[in-house]
Amino acid sequence: MDKLIEYQIPHKGLSIGQHDYNFHVDDKFFVDKQVDTINGGNLEVHFVLDKQSRLMQADISIIGTIALICDRCLDNFDYEININHNQIFKFGISSDIHNEDIIYLEEANHFIDASELIMENILLQIPIKKVHPDDEDGNSTCKTEQLNLIDDYAKREQTDSRWDVLKNIKFDD
Ligand SMILES: [Zn+2]
Repeated sequence: MDKLIEYQIPHKGLSIGQHDYNFHVDDKFFVDKQVDTINGGNLEVHFVLDKQSRLMQADISIIGTIALICDRCLDNFDYEININHNQIFKFGISSDIHNEDIIYLEEANHFIDASELIMENILLQIPIKKVHPDDEDGNSTCKTEQLNLIDDYAKREQTDSRWDVLKNIKFDD
């Protein structure tokens, strides 16, 4: 939590009206957030908090790239992120558990954790199938050396029976 202190927005003392925040998200952010599906990133976040008397709204824009691990060749590739998200905050305790679009801020909670919102929005953008994009000619841009290595390894696994004996070893916990 302390590591990402700059993402804590103290809404309690804010005046009514709009407040602008800018964040630069880099590799360290994903290390601190302990997200292992994302290997790094370079993103600009513009966070506009509009405080009204009974609720707050945040307009969050996140633009840049994240580094994902390719499912096919296991090398990193940059994945473009361009998000615009509107988030509503209300004060008090949720009366409607089915409404997931609204974040309820309890009396004792004086901060909005922008890092959580940024993280959640980025995670929603990760494709199910993570592979290097094709180039203009429709050819894969995967690292061929890596693919060959994986191929070799797979073949060796199939033919090398010397290790089969290991499969029968039982480990006690
Ligand atoms: Zn790849």
